[in-house]
Amino acid sequence: MTAQGFDGVERRGLMFVLSSPSGAGKTTLSRMLLEREPGLKMSVSATTRPMRPGEVEGRDYFFVDKKKFESMVEQGELLEWATVFDNLYGTPRAPVEAALSVGQDVLFDIDWQGTQQLHQKASVDVVRVFILPPSAADLEKRLHTRAQDSEEVIRGRMNRASHELSHWAEYDYIVVNQNVDDAFAEVQSILKAERLKRERRTGLTEFVRGLQRQLEK
Ligand code: 5GP
Repeated sequence: MTAQGFDGVERRGLMFVLSSPSGAGKTTLSRMLLEREPGLKMSVSATTRPMRPGEVEGRDYFFVDKKKFESMVEQGELLEWATVFDNLYGTPRAPVEAALSVGQDVLFDIDWQGTQQLHQKASVDVVRVFILPPSAADLEKRLHTRAQDSEEVIRGRMNRASHELSHWAEYDYIVVNQNVDDAFAEVQSILKAERLKRERRTGLTEFVRGLQRQLEK
């Protein structure tokens, strides 16, 4: 699991998790990160929920039926999985392992249940970020603007949001998405700082030894 840092020092790839109640802007922030951050790859989840207008198979999700999902669980093909809004969601293991093994960082848009499971399996490599909406009114507005769900589904999501928020203290970083550009800058800073953490930078000993050799010449 090593990546070449921009300064040439090798480091381990990291698993960058973004969680939030739906409608808090996490999908927009994920897209912005992927566009602007080289070396970051999205983990595409499998789900049993129906495809929404505008979604693309294999880009947003792998849309599977319950039988297929259950067989993926049985075969150990999922790194984590959970039931969210009566549907099953899970992270396929192979693409994540493949990305980390060639030194890419991986971005996860998963809920608190999946985050707990990932953290149990790979705590040192997992960075957990929770996105909060600035207010309940703002969350409701975004769910309506998205225009992807029925009134009933939106009401269900609002009810769920309070429960999801109760998990905020299980995360390493909290970002309040008042303004998407500011929230993006904060999320990007977290990624940049985490990439520089000494414990991840497996090539540092060698790098510093090299510096010392040059200095002692
Ligand atoms: P949505 O249906 O709005 O796309 O996603 C609903 C919720 O499921 C979101 O909170 C999202 O983060 C979560 N989710 C999406 N994929 C996964 C996954 O693979 N595992 C887990 N645990 N949660 C997921």
